[in-house]
Amino acid sequence: MWAELLPVGRSSASGGYRRYAWTGADADCRTWFREQAEARGLGYETDRNGNQWAWLGDPAAGNAVVTGSHLDSVPDGGAFDGPLGVVSALAALDELRHRGARFTRPLGIVNFGDEEGARFGLACVGSRLTAGALTVEQAHRLTDGDGITLPQAMETAGYDPGALGPDPERLARIGAFVELHVEQGRALDLSGDRIGIASAIWPHGRWRFDFRGEANHAGTTRLADRHDPMLSYAETVLAARREAELAGAVATFGKIGVEPNGVNAIPSLVRGWLDSRAADQASLDTVVTGIEKAAREYAAAHGVDLDVVRESFTPVVEFDHALRDELARILGTGTDLGVPVLGTGAGHDAGILSDRIPTAMLFVRNPTGVSHSPAEYAAEDDCVAGVTALADVLEGLACT
Ligand SMILES: [Zn+2]
Repeated sequence: MWAELLPVGRSSASGGYRRYAWTGADADCRTWFREQAEARGLGYETDRNGNQWAWLGDPAAGNAVVTGSHLDSVPDGGAFDGPLGVVSALAALDELRHRGARFTRPLGIVNFGDEEGARFGLACVGSRLTAGALTVEQAHRLTDGDGITLPQAMETAGYDPGALGPDPERLARIGAFVELHVEQGRALDLSGDRIGIASAIWPHGRWRFDFRGEANHAGTTRLADRHDPMLSYAETVLAARREAELAGAVATFGKIGVEPNGVNAIPSLVRGWLDSRAADQASLDTVVTGIEKAAREYAAAHGVDLDVVRESFTPVVEFDHALRDELARILGTGTDLGVPVLGTGAGHDAGILSDRIPTAMLFVRNPTGVSHSPAEYAAEDDCVAGVTALADVLEGLACT
C-alpha cells in the first residue's frame, strides 16, 4: 500500500506532499482508496460531503465500528500524517481476516475529505460538515488562493456540491470511531513506547496583538523620542516563552506584519499573531492573561498603544472515557506494548466527531517528533505495532 501511495502528490523539489482537497493528487488518493476497498470486497460509497467509506457488513444495521483518517496533506507535508491511519485501517482488516475473526458489528473504514484545510484555510471540512459543525453557507464561502470556491472545486472534481450538509443519519449508525495517527510530538519517543492512547486534544486559540506607535526616521529620531512598537512586540515574544514554560504549555508568535516595513523607518504598527495551547482551560487562561499583561506593561513603557483580539478559539476535546478505557483494557492485556495515555496539541477529525459519537485515538511513535514536514517519520516496526494494536482494538469492539 505504501509503495502505491508514496509517489502521489510528492514534490520532487522538497520531498514533501502537496495533496490538497479536490486537486489531481487528491483524486489519485481517492482512486487508490476506492481500489483498496473493492480489492477487499468491501461496500464502497462517497457521502454527501465527499468523505469516502468502505464497509464490511451492512452499515444500516447500526452500532458500527469505524476506523480511518485522511489522505490529504499540508503544503510539503510528510508521508504519515493521515495516510498512516488509512493504511493501518486496511491492514488491520487484513490481519483480522487472517485471524479468522467473526464480526458481530459492521466495520467501516473512512477517508475524511479536506482534513488539513491546506487549500481553503479551514481544517476538517469533511467531518465538520457531517457533524453540522460547519454550515452549508459557511462551506460555500470557502475560497482558495486562486479565488475558486469549495463548490466550484468539488464540481470540477466530479462531485455534487448541492448535496453538502449535515449527515446525522450516518453518524447515528456509528457506535465508535477509532482514529490511528502518527504522533506529532516526542512523548512516545521519550517514554520508549511504540503506541499511545489519546486522552484529549488541548484547548487552543489565536490572538492578534496590534502594537501601534509612531513612524519616524531611523537615522534622525533620538532613542528617547521614539514610540517604537517593535520593542514592545519583541519583549512580548520573550514573555510568551516565559509564561508558556511556567505553565507547561506552548505559545508561539509565528506570524508578523509590520508597517510601513521599511529598513530605515521606525515602525508605526507591529501586528503579531499568538498561537497558544495548554493541557487545560485554566492553564491556557493563565498563559494568555500573563502574556497580555506583560504586553500592556511593555507597550505603556514605550508609549505604544496595544489592542488584543481573540481571532479563534477551540475548547478542550475530551475523548470518550468509556471507549478510552476499553482501548486501554484491550491493549493492556496480552500485549507488551504498554499504553501510555497522552494529550495532544493538534486537531483531528476524531476531535470534531467526539461531540456526536464516542471517539478514541491511537498514536504511533514518531522519533523525530516533527510533523507537517517531510521529516515526519514512523519506523516500520512501530507501524506494524500500530496495525496490530488497531486490529486488537477492532477485534475487541466488533468481533465475537
Ligand atoms: Zn492528520
